[in-house]
Amino acid sequence: MSKPKVASDWLAGCAGCHMSLLDMDERIVKVAELVDLRATPITDLKEPDASGVDVGILEGGVNNTTNEEVAHKMRKRCKYLVALGDCAVFGGVPAMRNFFTVEESLRRAYVETESTDENGRIPDDPELAVQTRVRALHEVVPVDLNVPGCPPDADVIFHVLSELAQGRKPVLTGKLLHWH
Ligand code: SF4
Repeated sequence: MSKPKVASDWLAGCAGCHMSLLDMDERIVKVAELVDLRATPITDLKEPDASGVDVGILEGGVNNTTNEEVAHKMRKRCKYLVALGDCAVFGGVPAMRNFFTVEESLRRAYVETESTDENGRIPDDPELAVQTRVRALHEVVPVDLNVPGCPPDADVIFHVLSELAQGRKPVLTGKLLHWH
């Protein structure tokens, strides 16, 4: 049996969900042996095959047009799509800006704080073209599995990845999703 092809990427978040993969410790070796990793931002593998992969994993909320394009591209290429972490599942931390207008948020971030552009202006980088509100991944594309947590517990991540690697659909029970 061929190994399932896996790809991951991140949207608006802190990259903590990807970093939490390392919390699986030695179990990450076991998972790595079971899958064919085709693309992820934490290695030099950046672009999944145009022909597609079996499992896509997306971290982060949809904050701007670039995020939306990545979400659609991953959905198109992946047979099974996982929303990894609270930001992807319901918007999480980035969605806190939804209580404010886009202009208020950008002014707060770039003009009214100490850690600002030295010219005191909002950058015009196209990647900053934020949308009216941060959306959960499922609001943009169909999602097959939501994995909550900020970041998700290593036991949960291991369960999800090992089940998918063996061709099974993971079931997240209440016992597994305990909160610390
Ligand atoms: Fe970071 Fe938490 Fe969002 Fe994951 S869910 S990207 S750890 S803020």
